[in-house]
Amino acid sequence: MIVDKKTILRAKTKLGDKNALLIAEILGVEKFDSRNLKGLCPFHAEDTPSFIYDKKGYYMHCFGCGKTVDVIEAYMSTGRTFLEAVQFLFDHARIRYNFGEQGVKTKRAYRYPKPEPLGDKTKVYAYLEKRKISQKTVDYLDIRQDKEENCVFNYYDTNDVLTMVKYRPSHRVDKSKGDDKNWCQKGADTTPLLFNMNRVNTTMPLLITEGELDCAAAIESGYLNAVSVPLGANNYHWLEENWDWLEQFDSVILCSDNDEAGNKMRKEVSTRLGTWRTRFVELPMNIQDQPIKDLNELLYYGSKEQVLNVILNAKENPIDTVIDFADIQAIDLADMDGIQTGFKELDKALFKLFYGTLTIVTGINGSGKSSFLSQLVCNSLEQGCNVFQYSGELPAFQQKTWLNHILAGRYHVNKYMAGNIEYFKVNPTVQKDIDKWCAERLFIYKDGQSHSPQDMLDTMEAAARKYGCKLFIIDNLTSLAMGSREKDRWDNQENFVRQLISFAVKFQVAPILVVHPHKIET
Ligand SMILES: [Zn+2]
Repeated sequence: MIVDKKTILRAKTKLGDKNALLIAEILGVEKFDSRNLKGLCPFHAEDTPSFIYDKKGYYMHCFGCGKTVDVIEAYMSTGRTFLEAVQFLFDHARIRYNFGEQGVKTKRAYRYPKPEPLGDKTKVYAYLEKRKISQKTVDYLDIRQDKEENCVFNYYDTNDVLTMVKYRPSHRVDKSKGDDKNWCQKGADTTPLLFNMNRVNTTMPLLITEGELDCAAAIESGYLNAVSVPLGANNYHWLEENWDWLEQFDSVILCSDNDEAGNKMRKEVSTRLGTWRTRFVELPMNIQDQPIKDLNELLYYGSKEQVLNVILNAKENPIDTVIDFADIQAIDLADMDGIQTGFKELDKALFKLFYGTLTIVTGINGSGKSSFLSQLVCNSLEQGCNVFQYSGELPAFQQKTWLNHILAGRYHVNKYMAGNIEYFKVNPTVQKDIDKWCAERLFIYKDGQSHSPQDMLDTMEAAARKYGCKLFIIDNLTSLAMGSREKDRWDNQENFVRQLISFAVKFQVAPILVVHPHKIET
């Protein structure tokens, strides 16, 4: 059964400060000051009281070790179940509530397991002691021992009814010898409940672990609101089975193993339970060179304090697609890499063509776009930045002519005569110097190659990787093959621009896309 959380809150509100008195009495808080409602924390050693009542939350909180306890949890810590603790709370608050389902077997035609008799536990105590789990915790979790000296894990449902019984050997399991690691009671049905779920306070954060002994490790360390999934990391049926119960928690902490299955479980479970309320326990990779696989190993090689610490400091579940403003590195523009255009006024306005950004150059025909771009290419080379250039309208030799004239400067461009026609050409010795200076730094897209956007991007990627090109000039958007149907054309153009931006970011380069104005206002 599920006890309405609103009624629980109503009971706590009705009790008011009496919550603190009850908690202090149940836990035997030393030096309890009933006026200021604080005392010595029962969960860690201290001389000055830091275990203080929170009037708004109706719980006691320790500012030393971070532990939070309400009446329900305090009462449960004495070995009671959640339903018993809620009854205790309701009785004190004089709230009537129907606990009719408590202890009632509600599943029809279900073969409930037979409880293993509570007898000798020597072997189980000894084995779990080796794993740093005390007799107190073994008894708290009602772990028993069967005739074959195996550990017995009792799974109770939320009505405190024994619904599933699981076993495991009380010694190290050697899978290579074909030992069974665990099994359920023969002749009984199974339901994927959560181990220890009937001793969980639904108004507090829930810790979900990957195995009974990890759950035991959490409890041993003082974190009582813990359960274990029933059938390992790869089985998620418990989510469906306990959905309504799980829906009650405002906060869930996941502690899966430090392995592939554990990572998968973490992802799957947080997605299904809701990333906004799920946090993760970050286990240390190793302690003193000892790799840490799960919570029980952290207890074994580390300490109770370390276990409690990783649980209380569980990490938020980040949304992969956002970043905290505070985590964004502040950047000094002067430190950002990029290419200066060499045009004073433009550099004043833009600072640089920053790597990782796409620049669009536009202007009507004859407005000097090509001269501007050629100048930019030369300035880029001068700054030691390699260049890739694509011109959809000029063949390679004409691109060379444009660039030559700028690279040579007017004193090295001579007038020649072909018959009675005069033309200009770079002085051949200077041409050699220019070619030498540009060699392996300036790359022109070959004539006769594909004009498909994808081929262009592939070539640019190769030029960025192989030649380390930083400036990419794509002149121009309409000369690329964007499809013949108008709708395709817009989609493909949009897509190409997006890809260019990703390309700029991925390779930290500065692409320039030349775009002709769509309509010219006269
Ligand atoms: Zn404390």
